[in-house]
Amino acid sequence: MRLSQLVGKRFKERPAEATLESHALLLRGGYARQVANGIYSLLPPGLRVIHKIERIVREEMDRIGGQEVLMPVVMPRELWEESGRYQGVGAELLRFKDRADHDMVLAMTHEEGVVHLCRNEISSYLQLPFMVYQLQTKFRDEPRSRGGLIRVREFTMKDAYSFHTSHQDLEHYYVECYRAYQRIFARAGIPEVVAVESDTGMMGGKVAHEFILLTEIGEDTIVTCDSCRYLANQEVAHGRIAGFREEANALDKVHTSGKKTIEEVAAFLGVPTSHTAKVVFYDKDNEGKLVVAVIRGDRDVNESKLSKIIQAQPVPATDAHIHAAGAEPGYASPMGLVADKVRIVVDHTVAAASNLVTGANEADYHYTNFNLERDLPGVTTVDIAAIADGDGCPQCEGKIVLQRGIEVGNIFQLGTKYSAAMKMQYADEEGKLQTPIMGCYGIGIGRMMSSVMEVRRDKFGPVWPISIAPWQVHINALKLGEDPVREVAESLYTSLQALGVEAIYDDRNQSPGVQFADADLLGVPFRIIVSPRNLDEKQLEWKRRDTGESGKLDLKGAAETIRGWVQEALTSFEAAALATIQM
Ligand SMILES: [Zn+2]
Repeated sequence: MRLSQLVGKRFKERPAEATLESHALLLRGGYARQVANGIYSLLPPGLRVIHKIERIVREEMDRIGGQEVLMPVVMPRELWEESGRYQGVGAELLRFKDRADHDMVLAMTHEEGVVHLCRNEISSYLQLPFMVYQLQTKFRDEPRSRGGLIRVREFTMKDAYSFHTSHQDLEHYYVECYRAYQRIFARAGIPEVVAVESDTGMMGGKVAHEFILLTEIGEDTIVTCDSCRYLANQEVAHGRIAGFREEANALDKVHTSGKKTIEEVAAFLGVPTSHTAKVVFYDKDNEGKLVVAVIRGDRDVNESKLSKIIQAQPVPATDAHIHAAGAEPGYASPMGLVADKVRIVVDHTVAAASNLVTGANEADYHYTNFNLERDLPGVTTVDIAAIADGDGCPQCEGKIVLQRGIEVGNIFQLGTKYSAAMKMQYADEEGKLQTPIMGCYGIGIGRMMSSVMEVRRDKFGPVWPISIAPWQVHINALKLGEDPVREVAESLYTSLQALGVEAIYDDRNQSPGVQFADADLLGVPFRIIVSPRNLDEKQLEWKRRDTGESGKLDLKGAAETIRGWVQEALTSFEAAALATIQM
């Protein structure tokens, strides 16, 4: 590629709309341009990186027996009704009508598509297990897109789906896929990605892992331990929260006029917020009852944990519903509610504490000395607490440390949610019809590019790992007008191409400052500088973008020498990357 011809401007100023460094570099380096909120076009350098990531992904999917397919982005409503997701998924699923007035959707994942594709092709257990995958555009109408390609509405995803005759077989394959993911992230230059046990959310299923790149700019919170290798998503992490037990004092109703919040009441009564029981109302559980979540006043309810218990999405309740259950907002208590209208969910922290302050379900009054066992007998407590820094690790005596990360991939043991709903069946050895058990496995390709950019950069631009760099060699020709610079640079460029080396050649006769700033923004690992001074000594200058090393090489046989370096760098990069994987 000649830089004079490359489509896409590079520029110095940080764009005002860029929230993350990688977002700024994506725009400054001419990798991508925003078309609409969360919708981007890719320019050649960006697409070249994407293609290389896709190649690694394909190789690793093929290695574990994947078969590449391609399913459409536009799908009829009927398929999504079969799975129940046409109604079940909210506004992030884009619904529209075609000219014949048929309801259509833009696929945001392809479970429906893949079951539709495979249910007519598979009839016998002899055809199982198998895995199909695709690299395809998806659309998810995110309310908050951000950070360049980190969170977008239209994106390319690698999604894979496996089908099995037994759970055991799925679990075995799940591990293979897990390892394939480790290889993918390592080969793409982010070996520090960790696998975290996660919530299965709207996908359904039982076991799931998210692959997280730990970085401060991430929007996911990851639970880690300061002493062991414990890792979990906030939604599934169960930390140990220290309690306090003392002798129970008699319940006492106290006047707390106008003190509605936990902080106000605690300050008014002169107790720490940990000595209060907080009541949070949600509308409503799977039986339509008002959800009364009770937790120690210094802790917060984790709504993902709660949603699994109440089998519904927790939504803040209206005052009317709260009153109908006999409660008083601001002065609420789990005691004295209309029993058949409420579902009381009490966190372990309340049982592990004594003499708490709680409401009296009467305006301007609270109780002191609430003791769960005595005052609300027979309640089984559960874990609905949001985990916090300093909680006890569930696996050792260490302390929880919360870290930020970007989710770059995920794997799910789906089970039969989609295959059963969409009536996919095969005949087993006895000829009996069975439903295949599924796994699904996703990687966001664009997000992965942005993630690498976020953690592999310096203040001048991205420092691409050689495995996914847009080009391998960047030729800078200084003083192109002076003989024989142009001739040498042109000849080197042509020879490298002939040898199969991916080269970008700055043929613009710009100042070294302009050329090097652009080279930094393109982040190519090897830089070769052709200048009159070095040519006098029949030499070229070289510089590594990643290591900062530099030196000279003989002009004679330069293209072959450089090809050797590139090949050696590719091989050693991959070996080093794979060596970092912890099994
Ligand atoms: Zn630990």
